[in-house]
Amino acid sequence: MNKTKMIGTLGPSSCTYEVIRDMIISGVDVIRINMAYASFGFARDAILNVRKINLEYGLETGIMLDTRGPDIRIGGLIKPNIKLEKNKMVRLVYGDIIGDSDIIPVPYKEIIVHSKIGDEIYLNNAEIKLEVINKDEETLICSIKNDGIIKPDSTINIPNVNLNMKFLSNYDKEVIRFAVMMQVDYLALSHVKEELDVLDVNDVLIGLNDNNIELISKIENKQALEEIDKILKVSDGIIIARGDLGIELGIEKVPGIQKKLTKLANEKEKICIIATEMLATMEENSKPTRAEVSDVANAVLDKTDALMLGKETANGNYPVETVKIMNKIIDEIESDIDYNNLLLEISRNENINISKAIAYSSVDSANRVKASAIVCSTLSGATAKDISNYRPSCPVVAVSPNAKVVRGLSINYGIVPLSVGLAETTDELVEISLEATKRLLKLKSGDKVVIVGSFPLESVNYTNFMKIEEVK
Ligand code: PEP
Repeated sequence: MNKTKMIGTLGPSSCTYEVIRDMIISGVDVIRINMAYASFGFARDAILNVRKINLEYGLETGIMLDTRGPDIRIGGLIKPNIKLEKNKMVRLVYGDIIGDSDIIPVPYKEIIVHSKIGDEIYLNNAEIKLEVINKDEETLICSIKNDGIIKPDSTINIPNVNLNMKFLSNYDKEVIRFAVMMQVDYLALSHVKEELDVLDVNDVLIGLNDNNIELISKIENKQALEEIDKILKVSDGIIIARGDLGIELGIEKVPGIQKKLTKLANEKEKICIIATEMLATMEENSKPTRAEVSDVANAVLDKTDALMLGKETANGNYPVETVKIMNKIIDEIESDIDYNNLLLEISRNENINISKAIAYSSVDSANRVKASAIVCSTLSGATAKDISNYRPSCPVVAVSPNAKVVRGLSINYGIVPLSVGLAETTDELVEISLEATKRLLKLKSGDKVVIVGSFPLESVNYTNFMKIEEVK
C-alpha cells in the first residue's frame, strides 16, 4: 500500500461513475474538482458518485474543491476560438467591447495603467506570450510572440503587475457554501497572496459553523512565496502549483522553489502537495516519458504527502492508465527509502510532548519490528498526523467513529482512514480497530501491529499508550 498519496482531478474525461471508480481503485486517494472550470451540477454529481463508490467498496476517498480565486480573465470574443499569429500586433483595451484577433478586452483599467513597455503578458494558461511595445491611457499595444488560440474568458497573467484584487469573490463564497453543504474534506484556495486571504475563508467557514474542512493554500505567485511562513501558519497545507508558478516566475525557478517549499512544509508539519504536469504527456500517450517518471520519483523521495494529477485525468485520453502508472512509480520508489534513517533525520533535536513521544515511539517500533501497520484511534486526527509526520515504513490506520475526521486524513502521508463504531473502553476500541485493520489490510497470522490510543478512554483526551500485538 503506497504511502505517498494521489489526487485525481475530474473533468470531461473522468466524469462517469465507472471512470471515477477505476481511478479510485487504481490508487487515487482524493478526488479533486476545480471550481474554476467545473459547474455546481458537475461537482454535485461527481461528489455523489464518490460517496456511492466509498459505500460500495468500504473506502474513505476524500474530496477536494478548488476555489476560482481572484484570477483575471479577458472579456468576450466574437468567436469561441480566435487565432493569434506570431509577430502580428494586438491591442489590449479596457472597456465593454467584444474582441477579435486585433483587439482584446481586459476587465481592469489597472492592467493598462500599471503595465510598462517591455512587460510580458500571458494569455490562455500561458499558451500565448505578448510583449508590451507601446501604450496610451486606454490601450496596451502588444506584439504576439507565438501562434496560439484564445477563447472568451481565457486567463491573463501579468507577472509584473500586482492588481490588489479582493480575494473572495461572490462566486467563491458560493463555492465555500457548496463545499460545506456537500461536506467536502478539502478546500484548495487558488491564487492566495497572504495569510489574510486564508483567514477570510476561515471566517466564512466559521459563519457557516464548519471547522472541519482543511484549508490548502495554492502557492502560485511571487507574493505568496514572500509571505509563505505566515500563509503556512494559518493553512493546513499547501499545493505547489507549478503551472502558474512557472508562468509568474519562470519555469527554470520551479524545481528550486519546489525543493524549498517541500522542506519547509515538512518541517512545519503541514500537508505538501506537488501539482501540475507530473505525467503531462499521458494526456495524449499511453506511456510517460523518462523525465516525467523522474519528476514523480523526485517528489516521492522528498517525502511529499501527495502528488496531484490535473489535466491528465481531467481532459486526457488515459485517465485510469495514468493513475496506474503513477501508482507503480510511487510503489517502486518507496520500496527504496531507508525509513530508519529518515526517522533519525526527522526527529533530530526535537523537544516533544507526551502524544508526540508516543507517535515517535510507534514509528520507531513499527520500523524495527517490521510491523504491517500502526493502528491509531484518533478523535480530531491530530495523533494520526503526528505519526504520519514521522514518515513510518508501514501504513498508519487512523480509526475514528467520525467519518468526516477520517476522510480529512486521506491526503496525509501513509494514513489509511477507517471509520469504526463507537467504543466505551480502550480494550473495546483496540479490539474493534484491530479487527477492522485485519480485514482492510488482509493481515495474516504472525503479522505485527503497533497500536496507540488513550487510556482510560473516557477521561484522557490525548494519546498516552502504545502496544504491539501479533495477529493470531
Ligand atoms: C497550477 O497552476 O499548477 C495549478 C494547479 O493550477 P490549476 O488550479 O489551474 O490547476
